[in-house]
Amino acid sequence: SEVIALLQVSGLHVSYGKIEAVSGVDMTVGEGKIVTVIGPNGAGKTTLLSALMGLLPARGTVRFDGEDTAGTSIKSRIDRGLALVPETRALFSTMTVENNLELGAFRFRARPARERAAAMEEMFALFPRLKERRAQLAGTLSGGERQMLALARALMGRPRLLMLDEPSLGLAPLIVRDVFRIIADLRNRGVSILLVEQNARAALKVADYAYVLELGRVAAEGPAAELAHDPRVIAAYLGIN
Ligand code: ATP
Repeated sequence: SEVIALLQVSGLHVSYGKIEAVSGVDMTVGEGKIVTVIGPNGAGKTTLLSALMGLLPARGTVRFDGEDTAGTSIKSRIDRGLALVPETRALFSTMTVENNLELGAFRFRARPARERAAAMEEMFALFPRLKERRAQLAGTLSGGERQMLALARALMGRPRLLMLDEPSLGLAPLIVRDVFRIIADLRNRGVSILLVEQNARAALKVADYAYVLELGRVAAEGPAAELAHDPRVIAAYLGIN
């Protein structure tokens, strides 16, 4: 079956001053796929996503939907369907759930209000918890609810490629399960996903393809189900149980 590459990264380098955090990464995300990047702390996973979003300068080639992103702004990347849910969960904590979601639709600010309202109702159907709490300040939500809101806010912009930075970080196991269920559900709705995770076990279970990033380089890659059985991956990232 033919796979159309939505994102094609080649020879990506990202440096902080003299320190290179990403050193020549090649990576592909096919349309409608979940691709995960696993690896230890400091491997360069967050740096990689930031560079793809245009938040950090990088060398190399990044093609999104067939077009070279070189020199394009963050705003134009968002307009073309790229979205990043950062690890810091940059929500506007003194705004309500509803207002946060409205901001997520800023890409569609020129569209009629009823269209944006329909998008919000869709999010409330996907995340009933958020509906109950629509008038609550984002800063008072629980960790799991905040992660749901961060996801929902990004989805309000109807991204083609959703980049998630450690969506399970700090969440209780039951909530982690919900988050991964939602990620699988989004892919089934046609959203392509680039998922950075420390929870390698859950990430490999949900993903189609995986990259292991170590010291800024791709140390291993392959279909997620195959990597999950790679003895080196098991020893380093999955452990025994
Ligand atoms: P984690 O899983 O701990 O979040 P990561 O794989 O996302 O790690 P990065 O946050 O991308 O790793 O960091 C990669 C390397 O770049 C690390 O050595 C880190 O210390 C360094 N680094 C990250 N941000 C900066 C910065 N703003 N200035 C200088 N060095 C940085």
